[in-house]
Amino acid sequence: MHRLRRTLLVPLGLGLALAAAALPVSPIAERSAAPAAEPPTVSAGHVAGATSQPARISGGTLRTGAAPIRPPAPADAPATQLVSGSVDRASIRMSATYAAALNLNFGTRAIAVDTTITATNTSGTSVDRVELNTIAARLGGIRLGTVSVDGRAASASIRDQTILVPLGGVLPAGATVKIRVAYRATLNGDLAGSNWLFTRTNGVASLYRWLPWISRETAFTRPNHGDPFVTPASPRVTVRITTDRPLVLATTGDRIASSGLSQTFEARNVRDFTVTAAPDFRTGSRVVGNTTVRVWYRPGFPATTALDQAVRAIGRMNALVGTYPYRTYKVVQSAGGYAMEAPGLIWLPTGVAPSSLPYLVHHETAHQWFYGLVGSDQAREPFTDEAAADFLARYTLGSKRASRCSTARLDLTIYSYSSACYYETIYIQGGNFLDDLRSRMGSTAFWKALRAYVSANRYGMATTKSLLDTLDAHTSLNLVPRYEPRFPRLY
Ligand SMILES: [Zn+2]
Repeated sequence: MHRLRRTLLVPLGLGLALAAAALPVSPIAERSAAPAAEPPTVSAGHVAGATSQPARISGGTLRTGAAPIRPPAPADAPATQLVSGSVDRASIRMSATYAAALNLNFGTRAIAVDTTITATNTSGTSVDRVELNTIAARLGGIRLGTVSVDGRAASASIRDQTILVPLGGVLPAGATVKIRVAYRATLNGDLAGSNWLFTRTNGVASLYRWLPWISRETAFTRPNHGDPFVTPASPRVTVRITTDRPLVLATTGDRIASSGLSQTFEARNVRDFTVTAAPDFRTGSRVVGNTTVRVWYRPGFPATTALDQAVRAIGRMNALVGTYPYRTYKVVQSAGGYAMEAPGLIWLPTGVAPSSLPYLVHHETAHQWFYGLVGSDQAREPFTDEAAADFLARYTLGSKRASRCSTARLDLTIYSYSSACYYETIYIQGGNFLDDLRSRMGSTAFWKALRAYVSANRYGMATTKSLLDTLDAHTSLNLVPRYEPRFPRLY
């Protein structure tokens, strides 16, 4: 179990942040001169006293993570676009790039993260705070290090799975701010509860949502396995991962550089950045259209079946909802727990029964469209995410079935459904509801509507209402009477 810790910024952090800001600017990718072979300085044994230490994740270098993607402002320009005042407001509508360094000690399970977020306020109104999501705050015993805003120390705090960063002023609409966040945490050694999302077990390190990401404060605890997350897509994420030993890494990004024990990855238009690592991962791949489907697996994993199913799923879904947008589709054996989606990547748990793979692979592949491309508030509107994905999976597999729970409304949050009926209601009843609409509208109109919905919300955020309204707009039938009893919050 990991205690939640509230940590205020230590004064030492300011000096380090300023020192880092004064260093020459160069993108992470060009840092081959960094001490790549040096192992992380953290270890699990340092956990207790680490709170008051500044972030120093890469031996003697402070350049780690202090890598602005944008060029620095001229010396005579204002150093910040913040103005004085307060509005007590955050927004998820921020366009943010992430430049991060991740040190992963596979042996001790210790990780150290140092990220610089360059965020532009696209909300149309002023904000004075950002709410960053990371499950390290709930599952990894997070200890915050340096947190700064435009080079000035910020007194960040942690609440649930959110790092709250006051900007120290008001960020007007359209203005940009640079937020640096460093932390240390420890991966779990088991799969219990939600630990499988942040663990090193069965010879695999699985890191889900370790990178603090612009979000809206959202409760992590839920009575089921629902995804308690909401994250907008980022145009660019660059991550340099340094490990304590040679590891094969499967990440949301594509590898753009490698030097010693450091590997750098870049991803575009993604809404999370998942890392999976094992010393003995093998890979295999096949090409579908313009997409390379690649599987990462350890000996004993049913990799051929997983690859076959992924190739089939991508091909079928491309035809129904539009072409998969990333160059590579990664099918990765995770430490265990559940199957899970990330943009351009899915996890299949260690120990999965080969007979479960067709469904699991199709369901997670469907999330490439309904989550990856079209984002939504997974916590507050799980129908938008899971019903659409499960419908597409079961449609392409021909595995529609009846629900084992009584008919219920489909417009509630993940927090409102019981463990026994969350899946049966949102996935099964939700998927069947969409399939019923397909029957009534006719397949041609239905798939045309779904492609229009995907296209209109590409890399954006959609809502349940926008999905249902789009379907309604593509038929001469009036679907609203069908919506009313199942979505009383919306119709
Ligand atoms: Zn799902």
